[in-house]
Amino acid sequence: MSRKKVVLLGATGSIGGSTLRVLRAHPDRLQLVGVAANGNHTELAGICREFDVRHAVLSSEPAYRAARQADDFPKGTELDCGSAALEALATLHEADIVLVAVVGAAGLRPTLAAIEAGKDIALANKELLVLGGAHVIEAAQRKGVRLLPTDSEHNAIFQCLQGHPPEQLDKLILTASGGQFRDTPVSELSGVTPGMATQHPNWSMGPKITVDSATMANKGLELIEAHWLFDLEPERLEVVIHPQSVVHSFVQFIDGSILAQLSPPSMTFAIQHCLLYPDRAPGVEPTTDFRKTFSLDFKAPDYTRYPCLQLAYDALRTGGAAPAIFNAANEIAVERFLAKEIAYLDIPKLIEHSLTKVASHSEPSLDQLLQTDTETRALAQGHTF
Ligand code: NAD
Ligand code: MG
Repeated sequence: MSRKKVVLLGATGSIGGSTLRVLRAHPDRLQLVGVAANGNHTELAGICREFDVRHAVLSSEPAYRAARQADDFPKGTELDCGSAALEALATLHEADIVLVAVVGAAGLRPTLAAIEAGKDIALANKELLVLGGAHVIEAAQRKGVRLLPTDSEHNAIFQCLQGHPPEQLDKLILTASGGQFRDTPVSELSGVTPGMATQHPNWSMGPKITVDSATMANKGLELIEAHWLFDLEPERLEVVIHPQSVVHSFVQFIDGSILAQLSPPSMTFAIQHCLLYPDRAPGVEPTTDFRKTFSLDFKAPDYTRYPCLQLAYDALRTGGAAPAIFNAANEIAVERFLAKEIAYLDIPKLIEHSLTKVASHSEPSLDQLLQTDTETRALAQGHTF
């Protein structure tokens, strides 16, 4: 069997680490041919050594210079730097599939480049779909490449939909853990610190998505992601709080039957499903064990606790560039919160402010979306409370 050749964008992050575990378990099926990271050159060099990777990119110029100075990359690895190099890596001739696990809107250009080059995409990054979903989906359909959802909810839905024509589908129900402040009295949320907001009870993830889970901006981004991936209007997309994070989402059919996909809260299940698709192989860790007693709980989200979720629904209904504004404002709000410039409860306020102030377009071109993204970032960066 020939090995599937994988490019991993965001190799040093949380999804990157889970992907390496999957790659270690299946050396006979998967080969890592290219890796990228932003700034952690020592870790990236280690990955290149372990997996004998031929092509590596560091987006950060200072990190690239430091790597050159340290001379710690193996001789067989070609190291490059910057955003053009990132796009080139995403289109690498020998690659079969590109796993996009960089965080934020920075993932959009390399993903579009990979699609144009005919590569299948395993998509962990959700922000790029929220920003440029229409363009990404159009390009993927035009080029006939697979867009494999790696975000656990969308991967669950993708698995449940196999073999069912779209006309049989009624709605999608995305599960959400409710984050670390699920049971904190709303009156105490004003005192939430970055240290508290970057600890998740179920999932071990990067800092940005962990804060997004607490505010449920993450589920908001995922609603918009689901809209693009599965072509459904907001009325047919629901969210339910499920504290155990074992059911990764539900699909409800027109006859009322509901299917779900379950596994413990680890991204290795979704990542492996995408990388080996349509094949399956033993997983890298134990799955849900029904010999042990446990319960699964579900409840409707409370929008006063999670205003970001309401804002995301509103942005999706408004359409045009509104989701791009939501995403950019949220990225800056989280950055500023982590830098202790704004309070936790300012995150939804900054998003709402941006949605009212930045002009939207009804059917924005890619350039207009990128301009809206830049404009929103500038506004959200400069806004004071
Ligand atoms: P992270 O912060 O742990 O890792 C981000 C990775 O991207 C790092 O390797 C970093 O070096 C790299 N990176 C950042 N900017 C870059 C740039 N400009 N060029 C090249 N590399 C760059 O983030 P994460 O938690 O792994 O999340 C990655 C993406 O996957 C996010 O979009 C997130 O929403 C999504 N996602 C994550 C999880 C999870 O469990 N962590 C689950 C579902 C979806
Ligand atoms: Mg998710």
